[in-house]
Amino acid sequence: MQSVPTPPPAASRRDLLAGLGLAAAAPLALGATLRPAHRHRPSRPPVPGGRTVLLRRASLVLTMDPALGSGPLGAVENADVLMRDGTIAAVGTALPTPPGARVVETSGKLVMPGFVDTHNHLWQAMIRGGCADRNLFGWFRACTDPQRGRLTPAALHSFVRLAALDAVQSGVTTLVDWVDIFAYDLVESYVRALAGTGIRFTYAMFPPTPDAAPLVTKVKRELVDPVPLGSFQVATHAARAVEAHNRAHWEIAQDLGVMLNSHVLERPEQRADDPIGVLADIGALGPRLLINHAIHLTDAEIAAVAEHDVRAAHCPLSNMRLASGIMRLSDLGRKGVKVGLGLDGGTNDSSDFHALMKTAVGLQRARTTEAAVFPQVHDVLRMATLGGAEVLGLADQVGSLTPGKRADLLVIDPATLNFAPRFDWIGQIVFNGRPENIDAVFVDGRALKFAGRLVDVDTDGVVREAEAAATRLRSAAG
Ligand SMILES: [Zn+2]
Repeated sequence: MQSVPTPPPAASRRDLLAGLGLAAAAPLALGATLRPAHRHRPSRPPVPGGRTVLLRRASLVLTMDPALGSGPLGAVENADVLMRDGTIAAVGTALPTPPGARVVETSGKLVMPGFVDTHNHLWQAMIRGGCADRNLFGWFRACTDPQRGRLTPAALHSFVRLAALDAVQSGVTTLVDWVDIFAYDLVESYVRALAGTGIRFTYAMFPPTPDAAPLVTKVKRELVDPVPLGSFQVATHAARAVEAHNRAHWEIAQDLGVMLNSHVLERPEQRADDPIGVLADIGALGPRLLINHAIHLTDAEIAAVAEHDVRAAHCPLSNMRLASGIMRLSDLGRKGVKVGLGLDGGTNDSSDFHALMKTAVGLQRARTTEAAVFPQVHDVLRMATLGGAEVLGLADQVGSLTPGKRADLLVIDPATLNFAPRFDWIGQIVFNGRPENIDAVFVDGRALKFAGRLVDVDTDGVVREAEAAATRLRSAAG
């Protein structure tokens, strides 16, 4: 499936561990070395780096926990959010300031859980905007397959880092990356890039052969498990022609105690593959199965997916771009299927979760011409956060601001030309929000973006490096 990769230029095992160690480091002491990378803007507020941070008097907090506030999104006005040791410690009005806490004034701003991206292929940042007149299969042939074969560990690292940081700056705090890249040095580079950003991630590895259990296990144990915010899935493509592979992949997933993650019915032509039938036959239908796209499902397949509590990732921007069709999201929602949102890598060319939410709403309305159709604004906000966490089996850890959960959250600044004035802020998040409204991003209590800028990241350098890698690959391709 992939041509032989170029040997790595550097990236020794020790470098890798150093990279992982950096990402694994506990938040630094208060006001220590974490600060915005743009040194020519010294007037920006210092980034909170301590173990206890109080977000004070946020004008609106969407907790996504109805027990904590009003309505389905658990909304609280003029509330504080206290983070301690990487967890949400409390949400409420006029919370006392614990000794030593760093206080961040959030008056006039909104706070909500971070976005959960349930499906991505970050490496495809190298083909942004490419093959724009092709459908999925044409895009594979002309863009994805030839470019994947040219990747070197260094180039891969620069593309994954670029795309992961774009996701972070857009408010994504958890993402799932479905990866069909096999050479160990490339995988090492991939995981190192993800870990280095501080994002919470799931590495879904496609096993190159049915007997790849040792390699997959090695990647999980040696590369992903040591990253505190990393988790693992086994990826597959369900189809009759490769049913034996799918069965082997499901067995590996079960042995490792992780989810199986399959692309399903992205194109109508894939009806011939009978992927849901295959997944049923190998015994994978259940809550440990995540299906991506799942556009062309029959009524019977939707019923089976609902009955077995199979999880689904909806990728509306990608589906539009590739003329793949429109997922029957309203039907899945009516049946109570747990569906999250996915950016899906290079095919949508962006990490803009606001655009993703707006499109998820808009496509169903375009399909039915009914404004009341599922999902409504509150549905899609839930899908983007707690719903995505439920899809991944992570809802006990993230997805809402319930005390005890890990502190993955966003601060949104609505005081911009595209967002103000306040009329219905909840609707405005979906219809007006843009990545530039994301003022701060915390993952596991650690600020990855603060005062509108990525923390401790030389953004210009990241862009320059990706540009240089793309130029090198172009000239090597001749
Ligand atoms: Zn995909």
